[in-house]
Amino acid sequence: MGIRSFFGLDCEAAANACDRAAYNEAGLADKLRLRFHLFLCPPCKDYTRKSEKLSYLIKKADLKSCTDEEKAVLRQRMDEKNSESLN
Ligand SMILES: [Zn+2]
Repeated sequence: MGIRSFFGLDCEAAANACDRAAYNEAGLADKLRLRFHLFLCPPCKDYTRKSEKLSYLIKKADLKSCTDEEKAVLRQRMDEKNSESLN
């Protein structure tokens, strides 16, 4: 077990918690563990920043009528950008 999963979150779980936090679906324990993880893991911190930016843009655009399918497309685009920056 590496230090990044010391608080019970590996990077994948952190990304999931980050996504749920962006949609206010994360519990307090999730948010705390996510914060600890981000403190220790710069790549996830970067991912969270992008995710927060995306959810801000969604709110700004007031896409309340945005379907789950459309949200999935937006998330996928974000993931593609993330993997581009990793390569
Ligand atoms: Zn991580």
